[in-house]
Amino acid sequence: FEALLAQDPEVAGVLLDELDRLRGGLQLIASENLASPAVLAALGSTLTNKYAEGYPGRRYYGGCEVVDRAENLAIERARRLFGADHVNVQPHSGASANLAAYAALLQPGDTVLAMALPHGGHLTHGSRVNFSGRWFDVVSYGVRRDDELIDLDEVRRLAVRHRPKMIICGATAYPRLIDYAVFRGVADEVGAWLLVDAAHTIGLVAGGAMPSPVPYADVVTFTTHKALRGPRGGGILCTDELAAKIDRAVFPFVQGGPLMHVIAAKAVAFGEAARPEFRRYAEGVVANARALTEHLSAEGMRPVSGGTDTHLALIDLRPLGVTGAEAEARCGEAGITLNKNAIPYDPEPPAVASGIRLGTPCVTTQGMGPAEMRTVAELVARAVWNPGPGVAAAVRDLVTRFPAYPGEGAH
Ligand code: PLP
Repeated sequence: FEALLAQDPEVAGVLLDELDRLRGGLQLIASENLASPAVLAALGSTLTNKYAEGYPGRRYYGGCEVVDRAENLAIERARRLFGADHVNVQPHSGASANLAAYAALLQPGDTVLAMALPHGGHLTHGSRVNFSGRWFDVVSYGVRRDDELIDLDEVRRLAVRHRPKMIICGATAYPRLIDYAVFRGVADEVGAWLLVDAAHTIGLVAGGAMPSPVPYADVVTFTTHKALRGPRGGGILCTDELAAKIDRAVFPFVQGGPLMHVIAAKAVAFGEAARPEFRRYAEGVVANARALTEHLSAEGMRPVSGGTDTHLALIDLRPLGVTGAEAEARCGEAGITLNKNAIPYDPEPPAVASGIRLGTPCVTTQGMGPAEMRTVAELVARAVWNPGPGVAAAVRDLVTRFPAYPGEGAH
């Protein structure tokens, strides 16, 4: 960092300001976390220089013996962590992992059954503005109006009617467990592949705080930067049967040279996630999300589906007469970073939205527990109801007691 500061104070200033932002406020974006200094060190390494198209031992470039060790470590650690037959650690992101999974299993025009974006699905699950909606014939399922849980009867009905070649489960804004066994049964009944997109939850799976999709899915895609607390990136787990197809889909179909510095950082993160402390962390994330949801509910904010089993709370703000966009902006002014989010059957357009989504991965990394979640809920409620400098000061008080990146060594 000293070299960067001396050569380019403008960019160094951005890094320092971002560290200040992280330390100065509450980070409640459900898809974010605070990667460890060890992960950051691997990211900021000379491995960024190396071209290594191909896979360990079968590269299209010379000089890959050293980076091969990083990729083999990442693969072996992930295989052990998740009990998967095969792992590909090269996807640059969750979206790239999903594109590769589609490419491995389908042809353009094939039918896919996936969760609707407004009900918690992801853009890559069939949105018109994404490759998935443009190149595939996507049929969407959603949650029921009354209990806001995935309508498994509808999933089966749609699968029987449309005979999809692939069924996707896994979501961006769904606070409940997904019954993978039922999805497996439906996929078997209609002869479809089952893709579980575990982008949000793979860290909780790694820490044993959530059931694993691996025994049920043909393919599991994931991100490494959410609850898993690794570098920004993606990965794919699959059966031996699909290993060669998945590898060919990632490279050379979707990507070129892998990001070897990121792969080294993924290896570090998988190593961290295999430790006993990470199990306590993952349990803490879920316990905190439960406590936060309960306290937000006590503040008059309605949790979609009545609660959470995961790392996130999805809150319907309509009882308060405040939109998601207003709440996001007011919280932002108080130093609380969260995002507006559509709720199921939302009457508002996505840019306004009736809800907010809050996640506990960052605050749990900072050492907060259920007792602090009461304070966090009170601060969110005050920011939404009664914004003003008092709330920002109270937020600063709390985060000063639980600093992000305590001490030196992170930039
Ligand atoms: N799949 C799901 C369910 C997600 O929630 C996300 C991101 O939030 C992705 C895929 C895409 O991940 P990325 O942003 O790394 O492309």
